[in-house]
Amino acid sequence: MAESRTEISNLGEFGLIKRLNEGLKNNLPESIKGIGDDSAVIDLGTEFGLLSTDILLEGVHFDLSFFPLKHLGYKAIAINVSDIAAMNGVPRQVTVGIALSNRFSVEAVEELYEGMKAACKDFNVDLVGGDTSSSLSGLFISVSVFGRVAKDRITYRNTAKAGDLLCVSGDLGGAYIGLQLLVREKQVFLADPNMQPQLDGKEYVIQRQLRPEARMDVVYELAGAGCIPTSMIDVSDGLASDLLHLCSQSGVGALVFEDKLPIDEQTYMGAVELNIGPITAALNGGEDYELLFTVPQSDYDKIKNNPKISVIGYMTDKKDEVLLHTKGDNRVPITAQGWN
Ligand code: ADP
Ligand code: MG
Repeated sequence: MAESRTEISNLGEFGLIKRLNEGLKNNLPESIKGIGDDSAVIDLGTEFGLLSTDILLEGVHFDLSFFPLKHLGYKAIAINVSDIAAMNGVPRQVTVGIALSNRFSVEAVEELYEGMKAACKDFNVDLVGGDTSSSLSGLFISVSVFGRVAKDRITYRNTAKAGDLLCVSGDLGGAYIGLQLLVREKQVFLADPNMQPQLDGKEYVIQRQLRPEARMDVVYELAGAGCIPTSMIDVSDGLASDLLHLCSQSGVGALVFEDKLPIDEQTYMGAVELNIGPITAALNGGEDYELLFTVPQSDYDKIKNNPKISVIGYMTDKKDEVLLHTKGDNRVPITAQGWN
């Protein structure tokens, strides 16, 4: 009897996760939140524990021909910390799984770990364990992070309210433009190894791609301002995709103003050079690891003077209607493009 075969691409990443976890239910009373947010939530009694895992795979998430191992190590920790930040939490411990081929020297792995150690220092987390294996293909890195958050400060994805202000930290699209520039320079180099990379004046966007920061600074500043977001997610897949998660899980819509989207000058110039629309990069470029969050209108005074935070729109009661108000005063639906 022929077994039925479904292509993974038919379901997509989120469809696959949903399907694999059908019928799975949490039996333990302290498992407060399972799949569906930036991290799992575990009741520790006086506070919540947060637990999350992210994988980085050579050839899928990074290209070692232009990705320095030290930066890669830093990024592996930072993107995990970002998921704790997105719960309004504080990261505490990480474990690190790596699989290596014999292509790597001890010195190379040490370089990777130097980056991880630098990130652990920056984000004040302890690296407390992991696993090491050989790999027949490329480099594989899996990091898990444990964090903590006070029970009355946790921010989920599914609790945005109509009327809330929609805010984002930092700027958007830079990591994607940085990647496209690196890919372009690689092609140029492969075609003519005598060519030198042309990346002067592009340091910021390159850094956005190679060495992203988790926005723990924003988590601390929001706390200092007495502001608890009503919902939050980190922008890993692109503003459009992550905003759609926030809206669908909260049962609300959103209106985003094109002229409010924070785009750095290097991102803008790089996009123009690459023939990519800067707004497309801001909406659909991934890996910025900024925080996308909502606050009640009454909290506007608490955030309005923070230069790291932009109010880009507001939430509406029109479920799943997620619109961009363009500079030309049109309203167009925001759709997730999804990168492979
Ligand atoms: P993020 O981008 O914030 O890291 P993901 O999009 O990777 O989140 O994952 C969405 C949700 O699905 C998370 O709650 C995550 O824990 C869960 N998830 C992802 N992959 C799996 C898996 N293989 N098994 C169970 N849960 C998963
Ligand atoms: Mg996340």
